[in-house]
Amino acid sequence: MITTTRFFARELLKNGDKRARIWRERVMQTGSCECGAVRFRITGPMRAVIACHCTQCRKTSGHYWAATSVPRKALMITRADGLKWFCSSDHARRGFCAGCGASLFWEEDGSGQISIGAGTLDQKTGLRCEKHIFVADKGDYYDIPEHMSY
Ligand SMILES: [Zn+2]
Ligand SMILES: [Zn+2]
Repeated sequence: MITTTRFFARELLKNGDKRARIWRERVMQTGSCECGAVRFRITGPMRAVIACHCTQCRKTSGHYWAATSVPRKALMITRADGLKWFCSSDHARRGFCAGCGASLFWEEDGSGQISIGAGTLDQKTGLRCEKHIFVADKGDYYDIPEHMSY
């Protein structure tokens, strides 16, 4: 899938326009919830995906939560109409859409980082799921490759 912005960047690049490289580096990813009432943009590199099997992630996602992470300042929320925050513990909050129920964000207080549900990203991510955490809490109806657990 190619976004309009990337398409124009490629066209500019063909024509030898220096702006193309800058555009490509700056516009990395967009994402949204299912209904579109929450939209965001990420600039800069994203961390590898980590899948969390803790009880909170299971309950909020309905399965397990697989997320990338970026510095908070690299995330721009471009539409927040549906965005609600839920304090899932005394040190972290989760951003979800009140319209469609999508789980989008997980933010630990004072960390300066924000986790973003990998499934909410619009473009190909180029990322890999690198590890699974809190596997002791995982559901009993699926398996995780041995070497990916910790
Ligand atoms: Zn929504
Ligand atoms: Zn978790």
